Amino acid sequence: MNINENYLNLEQSYLFSTVAKKVNDFAKNNPGKKIIRLGIGDVTLPLCKAVIEAMHKAVDEMGVQETFRGYGPEQGYDFLRDAVKGYYKTHNVELEEDEIFISDGAKSDVGNILDLFSKDNTVLVPDPVYPVYVDTNIMAGRKVIFADANAENGFLPMPDDKVKADIIYICSPNNPTGAVYNKEQLKKWVDYALKINAIILFDAAYECFISDETLPKSIYEIENAKKCAIEFCSLSKTAGFTGTRCGYTIVPKELDKLNKFWLRRQTTKFNGVPYIVQRGAEAVFSKQGQNEIRENINYYKENAKLISQTLKECDIWHVGGEHSPYIWLKCPDNMTSWEFFDYLLENIQVVGTPGSGFGKNGEGFFRLTSFGSKENTKEAMERFRKLFK
Ligand code: PLP
Repeated sequence: MNINENYLNLEQSYLFSTVAKKVNDFAKNNPGKKIIRLGIGDVTLPLCKAVIEAMHKAVDEMGVQETFRGYGPEQGYDFLRDAVKGYYKTHNVELEEDEIFISDGAKSDVGNILDLFSKDNTVLVPDPVYPVYVDTNIMAGRKVIFADANAENGFLPMPDDKVKADIIYICSPNNPTGAVYNKEQLKKWVDYALKINAIILFDAAYECFISDETLPKSIYEIENAKKCAIEFCSLSKTAGFTGTRCGYTIVPKELDKLNKFWLRRQTTKFNGVPYIVQRGAEAVFSKQGQNEIRENINYYKENAKLISQTLKECDIWHVGGEHSPYIWLKCPDNMTSWEFFDYLLENIQVVGTPGSGFGKNGEGFFRLTSFGSKENTKEAMERFRKLFK
C-alpha cells in the first residue's frame, strides 16, 4: 500500500501548545499573579433556554416508541432546513430546501467539500486566515497560493486579475482579523470568480456578529453569487454550539453538478446530525431563541467594543472588534508577535494569540478575543491602559 505522503507537507502547528507552555511556566514561577486569557477562540456562555428546552423535549421523544427516531435524512430534517431557509429570508436571500445541507459544524464541511474538486485545482487563500483551509488542501496535494492581507488593505485583500485560481476561500467576518467585506468588495470577488470560472468557498461562521445592515451576512446577498459560491455557516459562535455541533452548508442549484455531487457525497459518507441536536438548532431560529442568542452575542460584542476603545485610547492600530469577536492589533514598537506575547505576559499577565500563527502576514500582529467574561475583559483593559497610555 501507498500512504498519502501529502501529510508530510503539513507544517506542524506549535501555536496553541507553545502558548499553553509559556502560560503554564509563567504561572508556576509567579504563583500570586492573576493571568487573564483573552486568546480563547471558544465561546464561554452556556446554551440559551430555548435550545435546552427543545433538546430536553427531543430526549423525551427518543424514549417513547411512537416518537423515537433512528437514522434521519443525511442532509438534515425538513424542520431545520425550513428554519434555516426562514433565517436567510431575513437578509433577503431566497433559498430552496434542497440547497441547504445540515452539518455537524463548519470545520468538517469546509474540509469535506474538497471531495468534489479535482486535485489539480489551484487554491487561493487569504493570509492570515483560519488554518483549516490551507491544511485540508495540502492533505489533498493541491497547490495553494495566497492573497496578502495587510494593514494597507485593512486585512481585506481584493482580487488581482493577474492571479489565476480555481478555488477561492473568503472568510468574512474574518478569523483572526475580524475584518469584514462590504457589498462592493464582495461583488468584486464574485465578478472575478465568474470571469475566471472559479468557485468561492465562503465561510460565514461569524455572520451573527455583523450588526450593520449594509454589510453582507451571506455572499448570496451579492448578485450572481449563486453561480459561483458555496457558503458555510455554523451555530458554534452564533448560539454556543461549539460542543453541541451543528452547522449548515449552502450549495445552490445554479451550481448544478456541485449540488448533486454534494448530496451524493453526504448520503454516502455522512449519516446526519443527531435528532436531539437538530431540535436544539431549530430552537435557535425561533423568536425566543433569536432573542436569547442575541443577548449572548451582545455580551461578547460589548467586550469587543471595550477592547477596541481601549486600543484606540492607547493609540494601538487595530481592525475588527466591531462586527466580530476578534480584534487584530499591530504590536507596538515593532515587536514581533511572540515578543509582544511575552511582553504582555510578563508585564500585565494578559494572554492573547500571536498573529504569526495564522500565516506569514500575521507576523507583527496579535489577536485578542471577546469570548472571556466581562469582568476579566474589563480588568485586562485597565491593565492595558496602565501599560500603554
Ligand atoms: N470557520 C472559521 C473561520 C472558524 O474560526 C471556525 C472555528 O473557530 C470554524 C469555521 C469552525 O466552526 P465549527 O465549530 O462549526 O466547526
